[in-house]
Amino acid sequence: MAGRAGSQDGDGSRCPACRAPILTQWVGDTAALKARVELPAPSEPRPYGPAATASTPDDLVWCLPRPRHGPLRLRWTTGRHPPDCPHQHLTSHQCTTEPSTIF
Ligand SMILES: [Zn+2]
Ligand SMILES: [Zn+2]
Repeated sequence: MAGRAGSQDGDGSRCPACRAPILTQWVGDTAALKARVELPAPSEPRPYGPAATASTPDDLVWCLPRPRHGPLRLRWTTGRHPPDCPHQHLTSHQCTTEPSTIF
């Protein structure tokens, strides 16, 4: 990856390995973290609960509101994130082309 801090948001990029649609964004104002999440279809429900369960201290949950206008913007979630938040909740993209488990 070229280390060029883009002036554009990461919309429209794809994972070079598995071609999954990927959203890469710096999230946060003071201590920004680079988030790299798989971009689900807008209609796909991604409730906060399961995402929080699957998350680890190194793999945070991002909240993705879908604005009618304007670019997508990931939002930081905290332990006080409302469990019934209607937005999509995402953790880091786990590349499915990587052989992790062999049956
Ligand atoms: Zn949320
Ligand atoms: Zn991938």
